[in-house]
Amino acid sequence: MSFIKGLKCRECGREYPKEPLHVCEFCFGPLEVDYDYQGIQRVLSREVIAQRPFTMWRYRELLPLDEEPMVGLRVGGTPLIKADRLAKALGAAELYIKNDAVNFPTLSFKDRVVAVALSKAKEFGFEVVACASTGNLANSVAALAATNGLRSYVFIPADLEQGKVLGTLIYGTQLIGIKGSYDEVNRLCSEIAGKYGWAFVNINIRPYYAEGSKTFGFETAEQLGWRLPRHIVVPMAGGSLITKIWKAFQELQKVGLIEKSECRIHGAQATGCAPITTAFKEGADLIKPVKPQTIAKSLAIGNPADGFYALKTIRESGGWAEDISDEEIIEAMKLLAETEGIFTETAGGVTVGVAQKLLEKGAIPKEESIVISITGNGLKTQEAILGKVGAAQVINAKLNEFEALVREK
Ligand SMILES: *Cc1c(COP(=O)(O)O)cnc(C)c1O
Ligand SMILES: [Zn+2]
Repeated sequence: MSFIKGLKCRECGREYPKEPLHVCEFCFGPLEVDYDYQGIQRVLSREVIAQRPFTMWRYRELLPLDEEPMVGLRVGGTPLIKADRLAKALGAAELYIKNDAVNFPTLSFKDRVVAVALSKAKEFGFEVVACASTGNLANSVAALAATNGLRSYVFIPADLEQGKVLGTLIYGTQLIGIKGSYDEVNRLCSEIAGKYGWAFVNINIRPYYAEGSKTFGFETAEQLGWRLPRHIVVPMAGGSLITKIWKAFQELQKVGLIEKSECRIHGAQATGCAPITTAFKEGADLIKPVKPQTIAKSLAIGNPADGFYALKTIRESGGWAEDISDEEIIEAMKLLAETEGIFTETAGGVTVGVAQKLLEKGAIPKEESIVISITGNGLKTQEAILGKVGAAQVINAKLNEFEALVREK
């Protein structure tokens, strides 16, 4: 049973049918999926959800499919851990990590959006799926397309980390490396999407795709015992995830799954690509595109498609936006690994480091509950820490050499 009414323009409110559309013909505003929330409230309860498998699909009434999901049936259901050792290091009282570094199958939160996008693409009858990616989306589209016999074309900046490149090629996709930044990749893909009848997950079926991000928020609230944290720190690339976590929290209140409550949503970027946090700090409404230069390549979008709405989300929720340097990103990756045993990619370094900065300056009060979003896995961005974490001490397989080495310490 489906509860999607159709698509609706975020700007002028015009309604559109459930089709592969993404911009309003009248005002060029982005289209968003519109649901029958009263209908959902009638069928969806905490008890109903609790009986379902712990995957992202346990909230399926709040996802934009008309049929049963066909792709990525085991995506989601990642751990929310109470991070006491990291909390102590940061001087926070109640800190949690939502850990999508172990999301199945490709170890980033992108599996959530791709599971929805490819299921929807199959409903629409597409045979070829495609994406413009900063890396994790590439892995996820290639893997999930492979499991469903869909042909895939994946477009990336040619200079991505090897883990992301190999972690795409292994699935037998058509991988196209563009000499240029993500923003140039995206511009080319918009032209291709208009010309070829392919489902570009983050272009022509973006309204459906983006809804998958909400499950990160749904799970977080459920894992906290059906409540919101007072703060959540979210990484921003195109600015979609942060707006959808906010939407998820609103929807849970709208359908009566949680009490009315407030959560401040804080946006995190790398200083080398910080168009959204810069606009926030300057009090601007418009985002000035930048040329990215940072090790946080998964967040390196200089002209963020949802930047305007990301800013709005942060401001309406009473949150902050902050950015940190590449050195700080590496320090934060190490801190998370050494305190909680979680090896995150550079994007996770960004959220941990920004949380630290917001705590230090008092933007997040130390005694209030905080969730830090970890969205990707460190094994994919090894270049970033090469030479920054020491090296193995190499000896011959002789006890005396080992003992000499231990004595030196
Ligand atoms: C894509 C991505 C994000 C953020 O994506 P948005 O474009 O802002 O939705 C965050 N973290 C990682 C690891 C990503 O790959
Ligand atoms: Zn419109």
